Amino acid sequence: MEEDRLKFKQLHTLRGRAEEFMRETPSIVDKIPREDIQKLVHELQVYQIELEMQNEELRRLQGELEDSRNKYFDLYDLAPVGYFTFNVKGIIKEVNLTGARLLGIERGRLLQRGISQYVVEAFRDVLYAHRKIVLETKERQSCELKMIRVDGSEFYGLVESVADTDGQGEPVGLRCTITDITQQKEAEEERTKLICELEAKNAEMERFIYTVSHDLRSPLVTIHGFLGMLKEGLKEGNTEQVEDSLNWIGYAAARMTNLLEELLELSRIGRLENSRNAFGLDKVTHEAINLLASLIRERGVEIRVKEGLPTVVGYRTRLVEVMQNLIENGVKYMGDQTQPRIEIGARQDGDETVLYVRDNGIGIEEQYQEKVFGLFEKLNSKSNGSGTGLAIVKRIIEIHGGRLWVESAGPGKGSCFCFTIP
Ligand code: ADP
Repeated sequence: MEEDRLKFKQLHTLRGRAEEFMRETPSIVDKIPREDIQKLVHELQVYQIELEMQNEELRRLQGELEDSRNKYFDLYDLAPVGYFTFNVKGIIKEVNLTGARLLGIERGRLLQRGISQYVVEAFRDVLYAHRKIVLETKERQSCELKMIRVDGSEFYGLVESVADTDGQGEPVGLRCTITDITQQKEAEEERTKLICELEAKNAEMERFIYTVSHDLRSPLVTIHGFLGMLKEGLKEGNTEQVEDSLNWIGYAAARMTNLLEELLELSRIGRLENSRNAFGLDKVTHEAINLLASLIRERGVEIRVKEGLPTVVGYRTRLVEVMQNLIENGVKYMGDQTQPRIEIGARQDGDETVLYVRDNGIGIEEQYQEKVFGLFEKLNSKSNGSGTGLAIVKRIIEIHGGRLWVESAGPGKGSCFCFTIP
């Protein structure tokens, strides 16, 4: 096209000169046969028309080119992904509007800056390794980076790059797209977390079923055994044996009823009372103490409730149950302490308020400090509890989104049951 335009210009000048020459040197023109001149002028006219047509076509093509260029820029700038061109050192040479928006900065201010400053420090090695491999292999590669905007907010970017090469095929930079995949990443993390929780719950359920079936079987074994004795006693007319067997059967049946009731109680915790309320834990604590008044008096335990118990938002009746269980345990596992004492209070651990019920009773060895929260777990099989109290407390605290643990320096050193209610 450029060639045609030049030719056209040359011809135009040539024609001008010819006309001028003819005007100025009529004598020479007069000598050239008139038909030849007419032929020449006619040829020149045809040429001119042809060139004008070509010129017209050129203008049309130029318009189309302009149109395509605009469309390209629209696509480039408004693409749903950030589009970057880097030199081999990762300096930004070009970036589309989406890319600049992704990093929360004006496009002009991004140019000539290194991309690494927009990558969270812990991910910079991933970026460098990615760049190296793209430049080495010259093949399309991708990686995921945690990136940081100018305002400090973070997002996950999926980076897909190819190498930019010169005429000899040597890499001179990279072309990359960066897609914000934060939502996808968060959904993935949430999914993994849920799967882990579910697996933990499943494992807990398996342990639970195992313990339940084991514990429910033992009264049945007792009943079965004493049924034999009962038959024998009846056959032999041994009333003492009959009575004894009946007592044992009655005891085993009562134990089984007890176990089943506690199981039922545990399953009910999931279906908590209607709604959470805000209330002071001091009131809840005093309510629990009142419920245990006769036991506390009987064992002569001194109860101290420290000032400053916080107000929490939660299920009130359930938290009374928590306090009641922990205080009752403190009383129950006092051992032969001559000055039995239980202290209930709150302490600040960093930005967390930790509530505690501390006793100066028999204490718990370190190796059992996890175990006591398991269902039907008792450290002393002869104690008269069922081993469900702390499992229930744990469940209630978990439903409130908190944690429960025990601190004890060991046997004879007392125990301190701690929990949080966020
Ligand atoms: P239960 O009291 O019915 O046996 P829990 O689940 O409440 O069941 O407690 C489990 C076990 O943890 C108890 O059997 C006891 O061995 C131990 N335990 C609980 N509280 C205390 C405490 N304050 N001091 C020492 N040991 C405790």
